[in-house]
Amino acid sequence: MDDRRVIQIAQPDTGEEEWLALREPLESGWLTQGPKVAAFERAFAERHAVPHALATTSCTTALHLILAALRIEPGDEVIVPAFTWVSTANAVLYCGATPVLADVRRDTFNLDPEDVARRVTPRTRAIIAVHLFGLCADMEAIAAVAPGIPIVEDAACAAGAAWHGRPAGSLGIAGAFSFHPRKSITTGVGGMVTTADSMLAERANMLRNHGASISEEQRHLGPKPYLLADFNLLGFNYRMTDLQGAVGLVQLRKLDRYIDERAARAAWYSEALADLPWLTTPSAPAHARHGWQSYVCMVDEAIAPLSRNAIMEQLLAAGVSTRPGTHAVHMLGVYRDRYGFLPEDFPGARDCDRLSISIPLHNRMDDSQYAQVVAALKSIG
Ligand SMILES: *Cc1c(COP(=O)(O)O)cnc(C)c1O
Repeated sequence: MDDRRVIQIAQPDTGEEEWLALREPLESGWLTQGPKVAAFERAFAERHAVPHALATTSCTTALHLILAALRIEPGDEVIVPAFTWVSTANAVLYCGATPVLADVRRDTFNLDPEDVARRVTPRTRAIIAVHLFGLCADMEAIAAVAPGIPIVEDAACAAGAAWHGRPAGSLGIAGAFSFHPRKSITTGVGGMVTTADSMLAERANMLRNHGASISEEQRHLGPKPYLLADFNLLGFNYRMTDLQGAVGLVQLRKLDRYIDERAARAAWYSEALADLPWLTTPSAPAHARHGWQSYVCMVDEAIAPLSRNAIMEQLLAAGVSTRPGTHAVHMLGVYRDRYGFLPEDFPGARDCDRLSISIPLHNRMDDSQYAQVVAALKSIG
């Protein structure tokens, strides 16, 4: 099928406003992390109810930055879900530490607190709770089985989401967000660290800029711009550009409208698809504000007319693109080969990998496209 006629699984909503926002940094010539990034960080921190937000090059680098700032090192263990984007676990390996996988629940796709309890050891230094597809992980239940262990939020999919009224990114020791085009708001690529911990913020801020003791902006605007900063830590270059900061500011203003719109579409999907016995639509407890980054269902292959993959194939032929929700980390070559995992080691993650299906949900779809997705699903067979 002609690619332009296929309903895409996700599509960023960018246009005139984002285009115009690029003008100021391009004309001023301040292109690296500067005033636009600072304004984006302030607005993002305020929206997510945290005192500190630090923009990064991606969520992957935001996660690495948080773990480095927490001084995670070889010998340490960090618990991560077995069903998540691979970089959640990779960030732990970047520190030389050991990612300890824990299984997920098939109904929420998030960490199963009971399995987390089984994985805690005296070496556990942190837990990364992923808010997959925009639904926050059960933070209280995870904290209850791992008292005193810091919980880092992988909030890549959860900008604007909330749990018991508290925003994602303010629920753990620190949060990491993504602005990849498949996420709720985008800067092309990009990420953000949020935290209420001033010491952590200060370390992350230095590590993000090569370990420099003061930022370039401070140096330029300070009394002795000709002196270089001191470098006392082994840092990285994880700074966002001001071009991205300018786009992020515009996108952030639209975040709540985007989520409200997707929430209404998600509710419509769930009602329209309720009579398909082989498809389980996503659930969310009443106390969660789901960010609806993706609308991910589970296929019951015991009663479905076709396998999950054959359903995806037939949907594509009907002009509807779909994807598995995400992948099971233990079934990826890099982890399977390193640790000798078998699919059945994490049965929840295995099932989510094999049976989940993400259907189109984004802010550039119209009524007739949503209807087309439902009609295509109902004609499977
Ligand atoms: C997308 C995603 C990431 C990676 O985000 P990038 O900004 O592309 O690095 C990490 N974790 C989860 C759960 C994601 O969905």
